[in-house]
Amino acid sequence: MEDFKQNLEIIEENIRRACERAGRSRDEVTLIAVSKTKPIPDLQAVYDLNIRDFGENKVQELIGKIEEMPDDIKWHMIGHLQRNKVKYIVDKVALIHSVDSLRLAEEISKQAIKKEVNVDILIEINIGDEDSKFGVSTEEVIKLVEDVAKLENIYVKGLMCVAPYVVDSEENRAFFHKIKDLSLDIMKKNIDNVSMSILSMGMSNDYEIAIEEGATMVRIGSNLFGKRDYSNKGL
Ligand SMILES: *Cc1c(COP(=O)(O)O)cnc(C)c1O
Repeated sequence: MEDFKQNLEIIEENIRRACERAGRSRDEVTLIAVSKTKPIPDLQAVYDLNIRDFGENKVQELIGKIEEMPDDIKWHMIGHLQRNKVKYIVDKVALIHSVDSLRLAEEISKQAIKKEVNVDILIEINIGDEDSKFGVSTEEVIKLVEDVAKLENIYVKGLMCVAPYVVDSEENRAFFHKIKDLSLDIMKKNIDNVSMSILSMGMSNDYEIAIEEGATMVRIGSNLFGKRDYSNKGL
């Protein structure tokens, strides 16, 4: 069994130090525990250490875990979302991090209206422009934000990115910096119903660098829960 308490203490200390280096307050950064593939007792152990933000990347697994876990958790949908599955989660999650097309945003808006909820979202940016990754390019993002802003019951709160996997996390600093700059550009446009208060960037490998460059949410899986075993579906 992983020592979740010790893992969390190390992560907390690293977050605190990264905030300090950047002259930021610890309160500006939310740690999201990425629990994909992990069983309920693991989530419960981390919940008992006072973590209340959890991230999942598959709709079915997310819904199952929402049913099993306490009600005061904020659930984050961080994975690629298919339009036909939006209806299952739209009234159950605190934030959808992975909106990368107008058609997906339109479906979120439609389902949010139907269920009479407002949904907060982030626009996912494909920062490394890798073919295998989801997200819009940096050139497309402003147009998408403007289009999504016109839809009802859906609010753009910021940007999200999954940086490339690199051995030396310093290699991703320029990407994180670019996302921050992009958020400032968008803010200057003063688009109605759009805020850039959230930057979801940084994972186990590179969260300290992401915080130094302005991340307000870091999504940490393996450093907290231990290595993932993909033969185990998590429930
Ligand atoms: C799995 C995942 C994470 C966490 O990755 P780790 O490297 O295990 O911290 C973060 N963000 C997204 C979108 C993920 O799919």
